[in-house]
Amino acid sequence: MTISEILLEAEFKTPVVRVQKTVTKHLNKGSVEGMIVVMKSGATAEEISAMALRVESLGLKAHIIKGTERTVIAAVGEKRETTKEALAAGAGVAEILPILAPYKVASKEVKPEPTIITAGSLVVGGNAVGMIGGPCSVESEEQLMEAARAVKAAGGTGLRGGAFKPRTSPYSFQGMKEEGLKILANAREETGLAVVTEVLATEDVDLVASYADVLQIGARNMQNYRLLEAVGNTECAVMLKRGASATMDEFLLAAEYIMNEGNARVMLCERGIRTFESHTRFTLPLASVTYLKDKTHLPIVIDPSHGTGHAYLVPDMAVAAVAIGADALIIEMHPRPEEAMSDGYQSLTPEQFQDTMDRCRTIANAIGKQM
Ligand code: PEP
Ligand code: MN
Repeated sequence: MTISEILLEAEFKTPVVRVQKTVTKHLNKGSVEGMIVVMKSGATAEEISAMALRVESLGLKAHIIKGTERTVIAAVGEKRETTKEALAAGAGVAEILPILAPYKVASKEVKPEPTIITAGSLVVGGNAVGMIGGPCSVESEEQLMEAARAVKAAGGTGLRGGAFKPRTSPYSFQGMKEEGLKILANAREETGLAVVTEVLATEDVDLVASYADVLQIGARNMQNYRLLEAVGNTECAVMLKRGASATMDEFLLAAEYIMNEGNARVMLCERGIRTFESHTRFTLPLASVTYLKDKTHLPIVIDPSHGTGHAYLVPDMAVAAVAIGADALIIEMHPRPEEAMSDGYQSLTPEQFQDTMDRCRTIANAIGKQM
């Protein structure tokens, strides 16, 4: 194997990867453009890596995306007159296409095939529907273990639980922090469930990433760009929650911040938006699934717990989300919701969780998916 083949092998571990970490400064100067360098089907590893280096030498970022039918290189950066010609001249290049969407690497224009993310026991995307269950907050070893066993028994594939909690009031329970992370890791040890937990601040990213399988970026932090960059620099999968008043373009551009740092393992979570309506905590637009699937290759998660704010509304929204093609659900479940330190009113009991899981699986199977 040549050096460039070895490099290429390493880069292909995730479906979308950056070749080098350079030239972010170019993004701020002129207008940004994105181009798709479509490689010929017989392009060699050398040609692909040489093209990626050529892209970077033109002051653009190169993201190699290996699809099932073709390899493309997304070239993103400052708009210049001569870039297209300079790229088209490369060996092994079939064609150069513009990326029209404001988000580039997240766009389906670059990668038409859906991205499948595997994080421990959790598989999200493709034919697999992930089920992430667990309490809003980690409150104690006993509470979390009970919840984890119930998720496992119901056939769930991921365990949620906040150790760092973004609370509306500074006087509310703020989470168990590192102690909570240790409890989550113990629960993974016993049940095998992948841990999904929130990281609130840039300075905590390394700590949380050392325990988590999936880093959750909460709705309040969707536009915390330094935090998005920080998780983009980890090897951890990321679940990005939609801001309560963010538009779809803002949501996708937030994902782009993470991917732009080289982390392609991003799932998007619709968790409801703020509207005039008050019978639910937020308004959960399930059309987001269909809309996002038309625009991005990233998998879509639905959170019917925060999306509705009432436990009795959660099961039907979960079933509906699976029916319209959501790639995963994240559902709050507490062994004793009435005792929960946060979000008890929207948490299912273990029995309700099991029942919801069974109903969702029936629908998933009916549309040719596994759950
Ligand atoms: C949560 O998952 O408990 C949470 C705080 O969610 P969101 O960021 O969507 O409000
Ligand atoms: Mn919650």
